[in-house]
Amino acid sequence: MSTYRFAAMQELFNRPAIVVPAPSDKVSEFYGVNTLDLDTMKKYLPLEAFQNVKKAIDTWGHIDRKVADAVASAMKAWAMERGATHYTHWFHPLNGSTAEKHDAFFEPTSDGNVFEHFSGNELIQQEPDASSLPSGGIRNTFEARGYSAWDPSSPAFIVDKTLCIPTVFISYTGEALDYKTPLLKSLFILDKAAVKVCQYFDKDVSKVISTLGWEQEYFLVDEALYYARPDLVLADRTLMGHASAKDQQLEDHYFGSIPERVVAFMKDFENECYKLGIPLRTRHNEVAPNQFECAPVFEEANLAVDHNQLLMDVMKRVARHHKFRVLLHEKPYKGVNGSGKHNNWSLLSNTGVNILSPGTTPKTNLQFLTFLINTMKAVHDHSELLRASIVSAGNEHRLGANEAPPAIISVFLGKQITKVLKDIESKVTQKKMTPDEKTELKLDIGKIPEILLDNTDRNRTSPFAFTGNRFEFRAVGSTTNCAAPMTVLNTAVANQLEEFKIAVDKLISTGLKKDEAIFKILRKYIIASKRILFEGNGYSDEWVEEALSRGLTNVKEAPEALKAYISPKSIALLAGKNVLSARELDARYDIRLETYTKKIQIEARVLGDLAVNHIVPTVIRYQNRLIENVKGLKDILPASEFGDAAGHQLNAIKRISKHKALIQELVDEMVGERKKANKIENIRDKANAYSIQVKPFLDRIRYHIDKLELIVDDDLWPLPKYRELLYAR
Ligand code: ADP
Ligand code: MG
Repeated sequence: MSTYRFAAMQELFNRPAIVVPAPSDKVSEFYGVNTLDLDTMKKYLPLEAFQNVKKAIDTWGHIDRKVADAVASAMKAWAMERGATHYTHWFHPLNGSTAEKHDAFFEPTSDGNVFEHFSGNELIQQEPDASSLPSGGIRNTFEARGYSAWDPSSPAFIVDKTLCIPTVFISYTGEALDYKTPLLKSLFILDKAAVKVCQYFDKDVSKVISTLGWEQEYFLVDEALYYARPDLVLADRTLMGHASAKDQQLEDHYFGSIPERVVAFMKDFENECYKLGIPLRTRHNEVAPNQFECAPVFEEANLAVDHNQLLMDVMKRVARHHKFRVLLHEKPYKGVNGSGKHNNWSLLSNTGVNILSPGTTPKTNLQFLTFLINTMKAVHDHSELLRASIVSAGNEHRLGANEAPPAIISVFLGKQITKVLKDIESKVTQKKMTPDEKTELKLDIGKIPEILLDNTDRNRTSPFAFTGNRFEFRAVGSTTNCAAPMTVLNTAVANQLEEFKIAVDKLISTGLKKDEAIFKILRKYIIASKRILFEGNGYSDEWVEEALSRGLTNVKEAPEALKAYISPKSIALLAGKNVLSARELDARYDIRLETYTKKIQIEARVLGDLAVNHIVPTVIRYQNRLIENVKGLKDILPASEFGDAAGHQLNAIKRISKHKALIQELVDEMVGERKKANKIENIRDKANAYSIQVKPFLDRIRYHIDKLELIVDDDLWPLPKYRELLYAR
């Protein structure tokens, strides 16, 4: 076995199981110890200051300087009691990860001493510079500075002796340079729009929050094997590797018993999450070998987004203690399922009602239907922008690859709800409805909870599925910052609800009763957007054809799909609602394209290196062995027996030559295309060149390498094989 692979396997066999004792058997005894939630804040703040903070959070208001000073000193006291020495503003820059820049609490005095210090100023705003973070050109043109500003609605927390303060990140000229700023704006307008519509049904509703419960899929791989795969280390996915004889075909991994070493890791990382107040509830094996999933109880969307970003960090950190690596890439292995991050989304009112859950009365059910249909219409009208929010070089491998929802955005409602929509369409009439007609309709609606109770069918092939009391956006990729799709969804729904309110009020002003006006507008929306409804198999070829005939778009290439960010319709929505300006959208579009280009560029380089420096020399070595063997046979055997004895080897020698020659040729061609693409100045054209001219080589080269893997002596093969990567644990 090659040195790399051999050493890795040796390491693996010597792994001790690492068991980290939990702080206590009862999670309630240590849950949230490292997070400064409102309850804890209350203990550290004067009452008036606390009420000020709470009010600011509830009403999207401001926090004045005096209060900020009090909060800063409370945070410092709390954090230092827990051993913190540093603080940082913690934000979500547009490179997809999280950023922090630690400063020590201590401050020197003029007499040469130091004291611990943290003021309201430092809490509220920082200038982390961070000029290398992506800005899509926003920062070059004016001022280079970037500012981070405190987000009081997400609690501060401690990681590794550092107090982390969630913040937004904006440019000197006020443009958003992060994911959180537009998310907060979208939550604000959604609150306002949803409250107004809820008021048709319940005057007590004064606030509506959006809830998000994500499900995070990931792979684990042993650290030693990981290091023996330069493609995993540098490109986050395997760029070669023949399918293992057994992978997921027996479906024996899904929901199977979790391997002991993996459980030890999971318990450890869950405990770290609990300390940070991340309410993880669910863990299980996923479909592919060594693939797993975790999910928390849903939370307010901004907090849930922060928690997901934090979780991805915590997972990676804890995995290293267990000599595992977490692979968050959407498709680390060819031929087995990739990883997604389902975004379960709903709306919750201050009266405690989940608005997307059927209620107990015709009135609450009409509210439920109103929001369901408006959401469906919003997704219909902005499906391209929704898709743009989740495409990436990684997610390209999932969307439309017959294992994840396709690149066609459709909505699944289930048989029962679909029938209710059909009833509304047929029973609500153009003319004024009679009292009998209205009563009948209301009776129908009153029955929804009973019919739904045992009948929520699931469709796992739908990108956007109603699952009984929430929508599940299933097409989101495993590395995606949930803020991106949630911002689009919230804004589209907010905009839709505003239009709905205007339309209904207009009908009411012509003398129609409220319920009838609502029914009439809902009927209109059902007709306008029903082409997006699809109940069948989203993975099937028939659906691709049917979607085309319905006029739904199917865009698999990320650079093409990303165009929706700057379409007039998207700008009208996001800029019109003051969530992202045209300039900010333009910048985001460019950043996403640049990231895409760089990812493909890295993959192409890594594959080129591996092919030329690892694979070709290996196969030549094996070929030489065969040649020597053939020569030897020729020396010792009579000519009549030689053909039989050496036939297999001679054939292998030829096949190796053929594949090797093609690999070298294709690598040369790919390098040529890359050079051409690199010369292109325009970001958009360059991404297209990488997508169309360079990317196809990755699969073409890999094809020959994977064939060679089956020919060459296992002893010589330099890289851990799929069966090792997928089954070692
Ligand atoms: P499944 O795999 O069947 O979809 P899971 O239990 O793995 O179910 O995940 C369901 C997710 O949906 C959880 O994160 C859960 O918190 C979330 N969820 C449930 N109700 C809501 C809701 N009202 N709003 C947002 N998310 C929700
Ligand atoms: Mg699940």
